[in-house]
Amino acid sequence: MTQVSERLVRLLNMVPYFQAHPQISHEEAAAELGVTRKQLLADLNQLWMCGLPGGGPGDLIDLDFDGDNIEVIFSAGTEYNNFKIYSPEPIDPNVTAVLNKVEAKLASSPLKNDEVKPRVFLINNFRLYSMLSLYLGANSFAKGYAMLPTDNIFMNKSDIAKDLVFRNASANNSRSFSGVIAHETTHLLIRKRFGYWRNLTMPAWKKEGYAEYVAGGSTLSYETGVKMWKDNPTDGTGYQYFKYYMLVKYLLDHDKLSVDEFLHRDFDLRELEEKVLRSL
Ligand SMILES: [Zn+2]
Repeated sequence: MTQVSERLVRLLNMVPYFQAHPQISHEEAAAELGVTRKQLLADLNQLWMCGLPGGGPGDLIDLDFDGDNIEVIFSAGTEYNNFKIYSPEPIDPNVTAVLNKVEAKLASSPLKNDEVKPRVFLINNFRLYSMLSLYLGANSFAKGYAMLPTDNIFMNKSDIAKDLVFRNASANNSRSFSGVIAHETTHLLIRKRFGYWRNLTMPAWKKEGYAEYVAGGSTLSYETGVKMWKDNPTDGTGYQYFKYYMLVKYLLDHDKLSVDEFLHRDFDLRELEEKVLRSL
């Protein structure tokens, strides 16, 4: 990995890391994260600085420097089904209803595995979410890091009572919160079934398309997605995940492939795309 992307993943995982090790010393943390103490302090400083200037008290992830110890405070946390939810502010009790929806979506997948226990971090603040992303893909709904040995999912701003998650964009800027958690959890389930290496090398259209399939839909409506694809069939910009979703839906619902068959088999992608586009 390049230096920037190494720093990106380190920063992204720092908050949950310190959450899991609340009283770790700078020395131990630096050793475990594979950086010098100086770099660690620079990273912490970045996390700390970027939270400022904060709006309200719920705006910040609290980093507490107590002598040589570091503490990241997600003051609220709850556990339900296989999920642990963390938040810097009190968690809407409607979260259990939302997680029941997630459970129903995941139950439809043969990959479901109760050993996968995602930790969901509700960031609930566009600026902080974008900072935690180091401004890469910062206007997404959520991030999971299936290429890392973690089960962390970071959710952007959300309205749990309405089952919605938002992204900082002018269009197509909300979608189902339960669908997005189901999507990110599906990545973890694929990794669990196939292992790190196979997961890493599996084509994006399979992973993203299947994650959308389990989520029960993509960001774009069917009409919008089909129109974008038909208007510009050679360039998937803006409708990529919708197309992946349609490909997977076709193979599973129309061709009746099993999930394992679909994930194991090689396909001629261009031929598949043409066939699916004609069917829409
Ligand atoms: Zn995805």
